[in-house]
Amino acid sequence: MSGAPQAPTGAGLDVESGRLLVVGGGLATARLCSTLRRKKFRGPITVLSAERRAPYDRPPLSKDVLLGKRDDTSLPFDVEKLDVEVRLGTRAVGLSTTDRQVHLADESLTYDALAVATGAAPVRLPGAGRQLTLRTLDDALALRAQLRPGARVVVIGASWIGAEVATAALAAGCRVTCLEFQPEPFAGALGEDVGALTRSWWDDVDLRTSTAVASVETDGVHLGDGEVVPADVVVTGVGVRPDLGWLEGSGLATDRGVLTDTRARTNVAQVVALGDVAQRWSHHTGTHRLAEHWDEASTVAAAAAGALLGWDEGPEHDPVPYFWSDLFGRSLQYVGAHAPDDDVHVDRAPDGSLGRAVWSRQGVLSAWLGVDARPEVVRARTTVGRPVTELA
Ligand SMILES: Cc1cc2nc3c(=O)[nH]c(=O)nc-3n(C[C@H](O)[C@H](O)[C@H](O)COP(=O)(O)OP(=O)(O)OC[C@H]3O[C@@H](n4cnc5c(N)ncnc54)[C@H](O)[C@@H]3O)c2cc1C
Repeated sequence: MSGAPQAPTGAGLDVESGRLLVVGGGLATARLCSTLRRKKFRGPITVLSAERRAPYDRPPLSKDVLLGKRDDTSLPFDVEKLDVEVRLGTRAVGLSTTDRQVHLADESLTYDALAVATGAAPVRLPGAGRQLTLRTLDDALALRAQLRPGARVVVIGASWIGAEVATAALAAGCRVTCLEFQPEPFAGALGEDVGALTRSWWDDVDLRTSTAVASVETDGVHLGDGEVVPADVVVTGVGVRPDLGWLEGSGLATDRGVLTDTRARTNVAQVVALGDVAQRWSHHTGTHRLAEHWDEASTVAAAAAGALLGWDEGPEHDPVPYFWSDLFGRSLQYVGAHAPDDDVHVDRAPDGSLGRAVWSRQGVLSAWLGVDARPEVVRARTTVGRPVTELA
């Protein structure tokens, strides 16, 4: 087992009668349940989901839903056909791996195998003022209702969520201010030099970089220097964090997420973790990484299902990371994983802004970002880890 603390060897779930408990009701869960049934697992599956909705897709929330193009982002998840018991509005509050029990507020459930797929939750800033975040469909519908012409919308964070929210708010006729701690937009994700080339994308936004937010109060956003930025709507988009509180004392190895190997196995036999909650080992980077992207949560199910059915036998999962974002009328694709000190080569788009960024280390492609360059993404993805010259 690479990376994560070695899981004890163990047998797989009995395909006829093994009891699987899945905590979390998002994309990773939907994919895991359907993969297990496809693999002829016939034992009982119980899904616990803190949300009151069946699994749905989140990327459209900050795009089509905010733009008013759709309200329903349900994922294919036919409870009857899959023969899954789904308990909506049910939050796991504790885990005991020694007696294989998940604790709810008023009862405990016993399992033979457990899948932890609880995703991540938005980071909130201090203060008593109303601060919207965007993680659930209800969040998106609540925010959309606030995006009225002329409304003063203050977005905190100039990265993916901030830019997508700003895009929707502008489309709705709002006056948009974006407050960013770093000197350039997207600096945290792409580095300052690359981020600087996206400045013109924000032309219709009052973008204030190198700006520290102290708190969100009822009269607006309070900055570190004492200034108050008035707002009708405040949206905080400063990142997400897996909620690991309910796993305390469980014996599961955690860091920023639940540590897993490339088969989604944790350090405890018969417990897998997948999707945004997992900090999975990657041979590409030689580290445990939080992926926090749709592609990972969608495709890791095959490895997790394999591990559940044959603990030491399942396929490995370590794809070249991929994510996309749609913002300011542009479509971005990113593949790979760059380190801050990688070499970066940038091509500009016809308007002078960012067109492509290519990161490499000692001549080997580590990551590629394309703006409105979708046809190139497959080639870029297959070239990651190979000489950067092969991209030419
Ligand atoms: C607005 C938005 C836009 C995005 N856009 C993109 C994009 O453009 N491209 C991209 O690649 N990715 C994007 N993502 C990320 C992508 O959606 C996630 O990576 C993916 O949803 C992760 O799936 P998951 O199943 O791991 O977690 P989630 O989808 O978060 O599901 C986890 C579920 O577990 C539930 N839960 C949490 N704790 C408990 C508990 N203790 N007990 C029971 N249930 C619990 C949660 O309520 C939630 O329903 C976006 C995400 C958001 C929020």
